[in-house]
Amino acid sequence: MTRWTVSVMLWCAAVVGIAAAAVAAPARPEMVEVKTKSGSLGRLPLVTLDDGAAYVAADRLAGILKGSWSAKGSRGTLTVSRRTAQFTRDQARLTVQGQVLILESPARVTAKGWLIPEDFFAKGLDKLAPGMRGARPMAAAPSKPLVKRVNAPVAFEELRFRSYPSFTRIVVEAGAELSYLVAPGQKEIRVRLSNLAVSGVRLEEIGDGLVREIRLEPTGPDALLKIALEGAAADVRTASLQDPFRVVVDIYRPKETVRGAEPRTTGGAAPLKLVVLDAGHGGHDSGAVGPTGVMEKEVVLDVTRRVARLVEEGLGIKVALTRSTDVFIPLRERTNFANKRRADLFVSIHANAHPRSVSEGVEVYFLSSEATDIEARQTAAIENGVVELENPQSRQKTDMLKSILWDMAQSEFQQESSFLAETVLDSTTRSLRIVNRGVKQAGFYVLGGAAMPAILVEIGFLTNPKEEKKLAAADHREALAKAIYAGLAEYKRRYDQRVRTVQSRPAKSDTAR
Ligand SMILES: [Zn+2]
Repeated sequence: MTRWTVSVMLWCAAVVGIAAAAVAAPARPEMVEVKTKSGSLGRLPLVTLDDGAAYVAADRLAGILKGSWSAKGSRGTLTVSRRTAQFTRDQARLTVQGQVLILESPARVTAKGWLIPEDFFAKGLDKLAPGMRGARPMAAAPSKPLVKRVNAPVAFEELRFRSYPSFTRIVVEAGAELSYLVAPGQKEIRVRLSNLAVSGVRLEEIGDGLVREIRLEPTGPDALLKIALEGAAADVRTASLQDPFRVVVDIYRPKETVRGAEPRTTGGAAPLKLVVLDAGHGGHDSGAVGPTGVMEKEVVLDVTRRVARLVEEGLGIKVALTRSTDVFIPLRERTNFANKRRADLFVSIHANAHPRSVSEGVEVYFLSSEATDIEARQTAAIENGVVELENPQSRQKTDMLKSILWDMAQSEFQQESSFLAETVLDSTTRSLRIVNRGVKQAGFYVLGGAAMPAILVEIGFLTNPKEEKKLAAADHREALAKAIYAGLAEYKRRYDQRVRTVQSRPAKSDTAR
């Protein structure tokens, strides 16, 4: 269901510093040229996925390198003259000749086969095939601007942003395809969006150490997006994507200022320091309401605070709460809160609702574009429904799922999130002796932007009169909190074990398998 588009452009910090000229999005597909010292081996087309990253097809890469590609389950191996690079589906980590490398983006598998992230050429190719290089060929200077003028005004849909450990993503969503021009600068980056009809000025304060604020305002028939920087940007990448139509601007932090940027999927050798606990709903959004009026927002806040106390006392990990009172917090701000603090885990706590009042038990979810079953999809739809409270004019629910997928920062952490989910669910159902409804996957908006392992725990069904009564009682809430705490403790125990293994492993190994 993901449609690919091909207009991507990037430039390095040096260019940002010098050039003030406007740059147009190229109209033709980007290519990577593979070379040896003696000449070119050929070019491979780049495809841009919905995450904004560029990839090449693994089998075509193997062909150009005169090597072979083989995939089995979630593993794929690129072999060139008996040297191997091993990729894992949805993981940015790979092994080249026994050496572990981390790419900017994970390897992907689509209906058309495996895709290898573009930065493999910079980081891994030389190790796999010594002497070979791959880079985008220098583009010939365009004789005329490539931006095509479309005269009909384009409807503005949404301006949004997210802060990640290594970059800040800004998205302008529109009702039709957008043409744009980028004018880079050291303090401000300007993006002119042709024919985008915005009424008045939209201002969003970001303040994540990289971007101070963004401002979208009308200018003649167009709109101007001004991105005010508070620190130096290492790189800026833009992409025009479809479904929904949007322009994505990613501003990258300089490498040395990125803390904790290594994906946690690698079991990076840092201990767990901070957990963000997120009590669902709040304020004018009461969440699910039981037959006698017990409200989800109140139950989950109480349980969340109990978990926080237990974790801080028992595990020596810091806890930050997205809310500690009865206030409304938009979903997107909840993960932004965790990302800004470089949290190690994100746990969102909710209580469920179901049209059939006999439904009972605890469920733990992690994010996926594919819901495991119809009920999982329904639960996600109910929890996502709050977006409509945030913005009454917001789009249909079907469109909202696209917005979640737009932002699958979580896919990087899917494996770790699923492990966290299993651990918490096992512990909860065992200690409470309640129905184990299983770990499920669904498209939860609140988890979409988390740049760390993230789960959503549904602690029971408020719509079930029996469970509502239990959820209203302090002793059951304490038991739930203890069970979630025990799950986190078990996760930490196994995590620490892995950290010790990583630390005791020699830094380099020559074994290919
Ligand atoms: Zn909820």
